[in-house]
Amino acid sequence: MSAAQSTGADTPDAQEYAGELGGFVLARSTLDRVSARRGDTDWLAAAWADSGTRVLVLDNARALVRFGDKEAELILVPTAEAPEGLRFLLGVDDAEVAYFGVMGPPGCLGSLTEDAEAPGQEGTEQEGTEQEAGEQEPGGLEASAPEAAGEDAPGQGAAGQEAPEQEAPAQEAPAQEAPAQEAAGPEAPGPQTPGPEAPGPEAPGPEAAGPEAAPPAPAQQTVTEQAAWLARARPGLRPAGLREAAALLNDRDAGLFTHAVALANWHATHTHCPRCGTPTVTVAAGHAQRCPADGSEHFPRIDPAVIMLVTDPDDRCLLARNRRWPERRVSILAGFVEPGESAEQAVAREVQEETGIGVARVRYAGSQPWPMPQSLMLGFRAAASGDLELRVDDDEIAEAHWYSREELRLALAAQEVLLPPPVSIAHRLIQSWYGEELPGVW
Ligand SMILES: [Zn+2]
Repeated sequence: MSAAQSTGADTPDAQEYAGELGGFVLARSTLDRVSARRGDTDWLAAAWADSGTRVLVLDNARALVRFGDKEAELILVPTAEAPEGLRFLLGVDDAEVAYFGVMGPPGCLGSLTEDAEAPGQEGTEQEGTEQEAGEQEPGGLEASAPEAAGEDAPGQGAAGQEAPEQEAPAQEAPAQEAPAQEAAGPEAPGPQTPGPEAPGPEAPGPEAAGPEAAPPAPAQQTVTEQAAWLARARPGLRPAGLREAAALLNDRDAGLFTHAVALANWHATHTHCPRCGTPTVTVAAGHAQRCPADGSEHFPRIDPAVIMLVTDPDDRCLLARNRRWPERRVSILAGFVEPGESAEQAVAREVQEETGIGVARVRYAGSQPWPMPQSLMLGFRAAASGDLELRVDDDEIAEAHWYSREELRLALAAQEVLLPPPVSIAHRLIQSWYGEELPGVW
């Protein structure tokens, strides 16, 4: 693949490692992560120096994406055209092409946006553009809830979660599931979430990258080089987040983007040693941080969240609306796993807390990462047992109802309810119960 834009046809099918369900948008990949290479500085330097190596540039968890009719592809650039920034190794494909991710400076994708709309201006006005872009993005990516909504934010359950969703504008935010976001904790929604957006000091900054981070950064990038990269912009190209683009990307790109965003979100918010507060240095090709003061090593944080499709004896599905979501948005219940709790216990606890329903036969269905900013969504199905009267907590859940397939079909047709988008595990779980493609808009 020559250029930066190839993808598609020449990429192999993803090897699927799935649970009972599978087919999750963000659980795809065609690359070998070559984790054994992360400490091999010679190999990393050689890979970075190779003109065939490709780089996914991120700005606040967004990447440059070319949107086509019903598909999209990531714009990857040669290392010489990548901006400076914290770097991480994403993997190697079957043709031995190495892929890296780089957290570029705020606004580094900005000009592209304009170009897309006005092809003529591309290379110019970078500054302005970038700034604007920068501003948007912050919110944008994650913040924007796009993702949040999406899905998985356990939001509901997880207390904190809401946060996730909150941000989500509504739209996608079905949030419930969104634990994700902030998975951090229930409450956590806040701070961390932003992470991405907060290009802040620490994050992206090249410095952050630390010495070992990956191969030494290329020499200062020249204006010309940067302009060359920006010049690639053209109609159809624009910075986009996972939530918006993932479902349209092929397996390779979906995996690259998900992996890169997860690492970038972690780096953006974890910049100091949790033991002593000393700024850490990035090691292991961007997959770990080490404290220079006490030598402790720290790895990417992932917050497990459960999301469950609960059915009653008549096989009706339980759907609820988080209080922070917009009217009509509903999804299945979700929440963060608490310390000292199994995933199955979390399923039972969350359903009980949010709707007063007891469950039995909790069965694992599959999982997918939800780096908005750092969740791993564990999907389950469970059967309601005992009293089926719904008693929603007035805290996180605004309303909850049992839907038969016919009732859901009619509600969707009348646009009385809006389901989570395809990128979410919630969508897949609901669809698996529904029995066919879900109608409606997201
Ligand atoms: Zn320390």
